[in-house]
Amino acid sequence: MTLSKEKIETWIRPEVRALKAYHVPDPGDMIKLDAMENPYPWPESLVSAWLERLRGCSFNRYPDPGAAALKQRMRDAMSVPETAQVMLGNGSDELIQMIIQSVALPGRVIMAPEPTFVMYRQIASVAGLEFAGVPLQADFSLDRDAMLDAIADRQPAVIFLAYPNNPTGNLFDRGILLEILACAPGLVVIDEAYAPFTDASFMAELPVHGNLLVLRTLSKMGFAGLRLGLLAGAPDWLEQIEKTRLPYNISSINQFTGEFALEYREVFDRQAADIRASREHLVAGMKTIPGAELFPSEANFILFRVPAGRGPGIFAGLKSRGVLIKNLDGSAPALRDCLRVTVGTPEENAAFLAALSKELA
Ligand SMILES: *Cc1c(COP(=O)(O)O)cnc(C)c1O
Repeated sequence: MTLSKEKIETWIRPEVRALKAYHVPDPGDMIKLDAMENPYPWPESLVSAWLERLRGCSFNRYPDPGAAALKQRMRDAMSVPETAQVMLGNGSDELIQMIIQSVALPGRVIMAPEPTFVMYRQIASVAGLEFAGVPLQADFSLDRDAMLDAIADRQPAVIFLAYPNNPTGNLFDRGILLEILACAPGLVVIDEAYAPFTDASFMAELPVHGNLLVLRTLSKMGFAGLRLGLLAGAPDWLEQIEKTRLPYNISSINQFTGEFALEYREVFDRQAADIRASREHLVAGMKTIPGAELFPSEANFILFRVPAGRGPGIFAGLKSRGVLIKNLDGSAPALRDCLRVTVGTPEENAAFLAALSKELA
């Protein structure tokens, strides 16, 4: 045992040893409102059509390395401008990894406001880069001056901006984002993982900003299990980043299923619209519960704060009542006593509201 510990310290990079593995709790048979998944399974008719179509898929061959047909469908579904180029990833997480690998030289800086999506920091650390987190204000809006000063001072290779932001749910101020685009020395990635739940987007602006990349995913609109992300941007940048992609990163079954699912886009667009409507009901319900302070959300989840010191207890209490949400207390000082609930079906939301009112009573 001691021998292997020494070997690990000799050979595993310190950046990697210092990391904590991304922990995903086992939901058992709890109501699962912790991971921003679409709560609706596929309609039975779609499952049958998909299985029928699957017969035509040949798995003895490698997939189309460029995933051309799926790419075209995703471009259409996400209204990517004609002049932009796209590439696909095994989830948008993989695209974040490719962007960072493309710029990874020792000493380089990756920047994002914090709290935000934890993978930016995690992937930058694995790549041996420095991560500069710029604190958001107390209401989770961007601190304009702090951002612009940090950009001038640290000269980041890439700035990641989740829009809407996770785990806070809000949209950053558009004017400040435009200022950031104007003064960033390198790339600016606007991560629109929650695009199905908001009208705001920078996709249409790609032709205007040469240093802008827009990141999308199919995960939050209903295909978290598929793992399909899209990166759009100027061809000059994408041609370079594309070189870091492993040739068959999108499996045949993913390509085939993604194409199939996007043929039935209206089914999933309707689900997204239902989830948006449910979000408003959930917000209204939570506002009637004394002790829950809500933050505005343009995503399919709601961040809220409970009375001081009670975050972990209320999270555990909800769990014991069969509802799994996300405890953010302890993940960052700004998120003390904060919990995050994903918008579920109306029944799941009602169960969550009932459990929360009991916990806060
Ligand atoms: C969930 C999430 C992603 C990751 O999406 P995948 O495509 O499932 O890898 C990316 N960015 C943000 C901000 C997210 O919340």
